[in-house]
Amino acid sequence: MYRSHNCGELTSTDINKEVTLAGWVQKIRDKGFIVWVDLRDRYGITQLVFDEERTSKTLIEQAQNLGREFVVQVKGTVIERASKNPNIPTGDIELLVSELNILNEAKLPPFTIEDKTDGGEDIRMKYRYLDIRRNPVKNSLIFRHKVTQEVRNYLSKEGFIEVETPYLIKSTPEGARDFVVPSRMNEGQFYALPQSPQTFKQLLMVGGMDKYFQIVKCFRDEDLRADRQPEFTQIDCEMAFIEQEDILNAFEGLTRHLLKEINGIEVEKFPRMLYDDAMRLYGNDKPDIRFGMEFGELNAVAQHKDFKVFNSAELVVGIAVPGGNSYTRKEIDKLIDWVKRPQIGALGMVYCRCNDDGSFKSSVDKFYDQDDLAKWAEATGAKPGDLICVLSGDKNKVRTQLSALRMELAERLGLRKPDEFAPLWVMDFPLLEWDDETNRYHAMHHPFTAPKPEQIELLKTDPGAVKANAYDLVLNGNEIGGGSIRIHDKETQALMFDYLGFTPEEAKAQFGFLMDAFQYGAPPHGGLAFGLDRLVAILGGQETIRDFIAFPKNNAGRDVMIDAPAPIDDEQLNELSLKLNLKQ
Ligand code: ASP
Repeated sequence: MYRSHNCGELTSTDINKEVTLAGWVQKIRDKGFIVWVDLRDRYGITQLVFDEERTSKTLIEQAQNLGREFVVQVKGTVIERASKNPNIPTGDIELLVSELNILNEAKLPPFTIEDKTDGGEDIRMKYRYLDIRRNPVKNSLIFRHKVTQEVRNYLSKEGFIEVETPYLIKSTPEGARDFVVPSRMNEGQFYALPQSPQTFKQLLMVGGMDKYFQIVKCFRDEDLRADRQPEFTQIDCEMAFIEQEDILNAFEGLTRHLLKEINGIEVEKFPRMLYDDAMRLYGNDKPDIRFGMEFGELNAVAQHKDFKVFNSAELVVGIAVPGGNSYTRKEIDKLIDWVKRPQIGALGMVYCRCNDDGSFKSSVDKFYDQDDLAKWAEATGAKPGDLICVLSGDKNKVRTQLSALRMELAERLGLRKPDEFAPLWVMDFPLLEWDDETNRYHAMHHPFTAPKPEQIELLKTDPGAVKANAYDLVLNGNEIGGGSIRIHDKETQALMFDYLGFTPEEAKAQFGFLMDAFQYGAPPHGGLAFGLDRLVAILGGQETIRDFIAFPKNNAGRDVMIDAPAPIDDEQLNELSLKLNLKQ
């Protein structure tokens, strides 16, 4: 028996017990005649004491020769500590050691394995197995386990069946590039790793599974923006014989369950917002509604004066920054520089101070009088003491820019509180999205999303205006899930592929299996998928997902611990009938 107890459980009720512990040496304090060792395992830390008077001299010497992270087994008696540590559960006791066995020695670790470490991100990733011994990472993984456990409990209770779908498949168009895997047995042919199990879950509905879920890895070969992973996990779900309302209720239920079980928070019915309103009021399809600062459109009150910049703009729009009138001129200039950075890309920013006495002072006083500015204040909801920030230009661009400014200012003002949770459904997304680069429409969600039935005709005349029964679940300004009601008949699906620029032959080659299935009695169905990594991070009150993933990849998509990706040898290439044609 390696241990009778773990390092986190002994308390004063165990005093005088003979116990055996095993774990890692975290810290050694050597006073010569007495040595203390902090012994760590997954469950906590227990203090060991080696004492000349009460144990043997050889034992003390053994303890003095221990190194950090040695793996040891100790036997001894639980005794009361002279100076107690109220901060840890085992803080009242220590173990007077009578036997010490070194199970394995350890090289000096490249960083300190404590809550606060001296190791930078890179080194911690290279030695991730050491990093995982630290509480912040270990606890995040345990937290993730709890969340997935609750997801499984809840969905199982609601009658969902977890079904695994294959990883070696054919391309699924979720808007990213596929990772491909060459097939040795089928020369010159490739599998694609799923960007999501989308088509399979729909086939499961045709198969009559009715309520499906899966906690599943998905793979997307995208340029990695901050905090994205090339492989990530979804809670993927699908239901048959449902309407949009059924899906919203089912997964609002799941989210509410998680907030309650994990965070102890009860949330009322989730508010709903139309996509068009989200864009108009927040410039963003995933608005953070923990705070106000809603957009006020100013075209009607700011155009047709002599200010050319506004007159030529498609949209003039502003936000009121609470208490912003206290900003100095220098601080406002800095804000202007901030919106002009290439990442944001605004050409400039007009501002208006709302003085405590009800008067206004703007950067464009030449063109606007007090009455005009009062209308700006009314449109943006600005109060005395606030600052109105106004951007103008192309509608879509300006909304994105002002949204970035809104989030930045809210962050600075401490309005994005991690312990406050504001879920929101954003509904009625457009079916299609125009892409300037390829000069055609793309599916905004994916090509299996159904247009709103009453708008199918509109597809012919104004495709960009057609909305879908597609929805996103937003939590604190993050999209944590998204889905749609699907097309379930062959004709509409064929029509959709046609709009998306597939020839009938291409559509058949890529998705023939799905359209075939639709001919054999496909039930009406729909679903959604949650991004598990992000969901866990948000429930855990963090914005970065990496600590919640045991072995994450870095921003270049590399696993620096195992050093992947890596070249393969010629023999392997040969076997796969592959020849490299490297660009450099
Ligand atoms: N497959 C979709 C996605 O990955 C989710 C869904 O429509 O259910 O975003």
